Amino acid sequence: MGKNNKVNPWKIALQQLDEVAEKINLEPWIHKKIRKSRRELIVSIPVRMDDDSVEVFTGYRVQHSIILGPTKGGVRYFPDVDLDEVRALAMWMSWKCAIAGLPYGGAKGGIACDPEKMSQGEIERLTRRYTSEIISMIGPEKDIPAPDVNTNPQVMAWMMDTYSVNRGYSVPAVVTGKPLVLGGSQGRSEATGRGVSFCVLNTLKHLHLNPEETEVVIQGYGNVGSAAGVILHKEGVKIIGIGDIKGALYNSKGLDAQKVLEHRKKTGFIVGYKEAESITNEELLELKCDVLIPAAMENQIREDNASKIKVKLIIEGANGPTTPEADKILEDRGIFVVPDVLANAGGVIVSYFEWVQGMERYFWTEEEVNSKLKGIMDRNFYSVLDLSIKEKVTMRLAALMLAVKRIAEATKLRGLYP
Ligand code: NAD
Repeated sequence: MGKNNKVNPWKIALQQLDEVAEKINLEPWIHKKIRKSRRELIVSIPVRMDDDSVEVFTGYRVQHSIILGPTKGGVRYFPDVDLDEVRALAMWMSWKCAIAGLPYGGAKGGIACDPEKMSQGEIERLTRRYTSEIISMIGPEKDIPAPDVNTNPQVMAWMMDTYSVNRGYSVPAVVTGKPLVLGGSQGRSEATGRGVSFCVLNTLKHLHLNPEETEVVIQGYGNVGSAAGVILHKEGVKIIGIGDIKGALYNSKGLDAQKVLEHRKKTGFIVGYKEAESITNEELLELKCDVLIPAAMENQIREDNASKIKVKLIIEGANGPTTPEADKILEDRGIFVVPDVLANAGGVIVSYFEWVQGMERYFWTEEEVNSKLKGIMDRNFYSVLDLSIKEKVTMRLAALMLAVKRIAEATKLRGLYP
């Protein structure tokens, strides 16, 4: 989605917080305090390009809250990235960590750039310079970056290396989402998608729907969307539509999620995959099915298209895919929405496992990681579900109520200082 229909995510994040504050009678001083980020840094990143010219990119790192521990959050490389987007994502990370019971506050980072048009060497120089510009803010006890849109284990390896070289020794726990050989965790790369798939299956169970008779559409087929797709496909769920930034695929008989992933790995995108009809992204969101998994970017489900969505449930793999106006429309139409802060927490949960393993220098098996992830995701899902039933509110409001209450309790105990 381009700038034209971009809704300001920071405004949305504040609107959501204000609604929760009213609902839980949040003390005004705590409300005021958590309405602001704790720290925001904007940096210029000069990079020598392959043709010997110099480009100067803008990078951001925002820490929303340190009340529950060091801050945690991904770094995204995308042309549209700006301070308000990073602020919103940092605040959402605080909620996500609090819901999951992790000892972290929220942070986020980003660089306004188009990695599709950059070589690996240019991306490496960009990453290393960004890391050295934000180095005073990050560290295993301070703020721990991770991958997000258009960043990956290789980018994390460059960040970890730049930080380590500056310290004079290896500090694997400064980032998560690293390659395995550098202290990454088993199961980290699929963790977010795996967590999304647990939420899909738990919601189907709650609504008494049979996975084998369930049709799913996935928007975004990167790290999150593809992992969720492959796991759900293995569970017997029928995936009838998949989209990415270049277009979308439809097959009423079901797409083989693994084969679509292999096609994407070979060509970079899903378009051109043979065993499907090609449709537009707009058509994809309007397909009649049971489950929609937005797993691309924010602001995809808006006031202008929410009434055209024909699904029973939406499981938010992406951060902030639904605007508050759209949320109201979906609620009125009885569509069950599992919010981002709950549904896509698998990534930060396994990042937490990676950080713990890195600090202890003791590594777990993939089975251990996956079963611990399932334990936490299930516990979170049912605690939010129970609260939403008890308070007669949406899953989003229940999740945010839980998060803000936890942060408020810790804030009260710690006090205003520092
Ligand atoms: P990614 O870069 O691996 O994949 C993004 C996918 O979205 C790609 O398939 C891309 O083509 C598609 N896309 C981008 N813009 C689009 C558009 N306008 N329309 C349709 N498709 C579009 O990114 P990712 O890591 O999978 O992250 C996706 C979302 O999930 C983001 O909102 C991110 O913040 C969120 N998230 C990611 C993680 C993680 O662990 N990677 C964790 C939690 C949340």
